[in-house]
Amino acid sequence: MSELINWQNPITQMETKKESRNFIDLIIEEDLSNKKNESRVHTRFPPEPNGYMHIGHVKSVCVNFGTASKYGGKTNLRFDDTNPIAEDVEYVESIKKDIEWLGFKWDGAVLFASNYFDQLHEFAITLIKKGKAYVDDSSAEEIAAMKGTPTVPGTESPFRDRSIEENLDLFKRMKEGEFDEGTKVLRAKIDMSNSNMHLRDPLMYRIRKAKHHQTGSTWNIYPMYDWAHGLSDSIEGITHSICTLEFEVHRPLYEWFLNELEVFCPQQIEMARLNLSYTIMSKRRLKKLVELNHVNGWDDPRMPTVSGMRRRGYPAVSLRNFANRVGVARRNHVIDVSLLEFSVRETLNKTAPRVMAVLDPIKLIITNYPEGQVEQLTMINNPEDETQGSRQVPFSRDLYIEREDFMEDPPKKFFRLGIGRNVRLKGAYIINCHDVVKNDNGEVTEIHCTYYPESKSGSDTSGVKAKGTLHFVSIPHAIDAEVRLYDRLFMDEAPMSHKDRDFLEFLNPDSLSVITAKVEPHLKRVNPLDSFQFMRKGYFAVDADSTPEHIVFNRTVTLRDGWKKK
Ligand code: ATP
Ligand code: MG
Repeated sequence: MSELINWQNPITQMETKKESRNFIDLIIEEDLSNKKNESRVHTRFPPEPNGYMHIGHVKSVCVNFGTASKYGGKTNLRFDDTNPIAEDVEYVESIKKDIEWLGFKWDGAVLFASNYFDQLHEFAITLIKKGKAYVDDSSAEEIAAMKGTPTVPGTESPFRDRSIEENLDLFKRMKEGEFDEGTKVLRAKIDMSNSNMHLRDPLMYRIRKAKHHQTGSTWNIYPMYDWAHGLSDSIEGITHSICTLEFEVHRPLYEWFLNELEVFCPQQIEMARLNLSYTIMSKRRLKKLVELNHVNGWDDPRMPTVSGMRRRGYPAVSLRNFANRVGVARRNHVIDVSLLEFSVRETLNKTAPRVMAVLDPIKLIITNYPEGQVEQLTMINNPEDETQGSRQVPFSRDLYIEREDFMEDPPKKFFRLGIGRNVRLKGAYIINCHDVVKNDNGEVTEIHCTYYPESKSGSDTSGVKAKGTLHFVSIPHAIDAEVRLYDRLFMDEAPMSHKDRDFLEFLNPDSLSVITAKVEPHLKRVNPLDSFQFMRKGYFAVDADSTPEHIVFNRTVTLRDGWKKK
């Protein structure tokens, strides 16, 4: 199976373009008209490789890459790898793959904050020499206690006024691994009574004797996010550093570091995070779902991860369209997950061939149809796209239909099959039910019908009327397929919003059920990620576990939003 993007594929050309400009566009246009940054536009996507990408990251990717490309700019992929303990190359590789699959190309090589560890270390020495950074021997608890509160100023550390020489010496020895973890940190010397808590002598370095996935055991000290992030942006010449709203309060620190060092200072721009109903979006919690086996890995089709959504059959263009629809805002809000599902249906409606699959089969026999006779019916693959052509579907005396499409004594409004009722079989004939066979429990096991030979679709001269049309699969031609029916992973709209209750309590116990379906023989030759519409049932994608001997489908999404009613 190839995961590479096929640029000839019509899916990639189906982007819904939104022409209106958002507030980030307006900032950039203003900068361009002022020839700021030599009229360059350079953004970056800075994931921490501590988990797989989720739908929130998709928004960030689309904004960063989308905005730069709109203005002829570039986007770096830079891993924010300052915490060796939580990070892993497995995550680095998955994030690269996901960005490519989403259809974006980063500028040049893949970058890492760790590429700059030497430079960051030099910059730290510069700050120490300016008297703007010091080594603090206080413990984490002592530092927290001295921090104060938003309304109470902090207290200065007893180590704050160490000499520059002593600080240089201690910092050097921290780097060389002389001290244990937690015994010393390097802090910026700013203002312990600043109303912005982030300016109360923030940490720059801590001791961590951990092996790093990029730098191995070279370093015994690791930079803190605020120190590493702004400097990495600056070193790369990023013009617009887009982040989420909670970093607004970090901006003064971002600028303080760069201004003290007299280096290029990018403009930090904050936008709202994406929040989705029925969805959790924190890598830490998603990791918990994986580790506690509530799902089958990061790419479980119920996960809001890019790899999970891809496996479930969500097209990349649907994710991009969704991100465009959500847009960028300055205020946090929750987006209804049905908007994401809408974007998925919208694409698949145009791209997925229609096929017939019976998910809950019951036998139907056409008693007046010659035994052993087979007709090949020509069926259009996709009424939305005639270039998809047509295929042959076998029709015979013995068929499967959907159990729910039959009722012995149906109410008037039931436009499917019942005793004495007419119904059309899709692309075939109108049939009339005259009898049923039951088992000892009184359950219907066979439905007996007659057909009207003159009623064939396309050449119907029978004059017989039928209100409903049912899909079917010819029994002698049917093949078995495992079908995994997915539903939302959480039953609650906001699983994180309940005080004193763990989000795991809101897991949907029915988020997966596995059935064996009867599908038309055309589906013998499919490849992982191929998408189909099972007529009247929903969109289904071939799972990565699928083999020619054992075909597996994932339900991507139903045809209509079943949660609206619930
Ligand atoms: P998480 O809490 O899931 O670990 P994070 O923000 O810590 O998220 P990062 O890997 O640091 O994860 O994020 C990379 C980029 O994606 C950052 O620029 C971050 O702002 C952005 N991002 C993360 N989550 C969202 C979201 N829900 N909406 C928009 N952008 C997001
Ligand atoms: Mg994080």
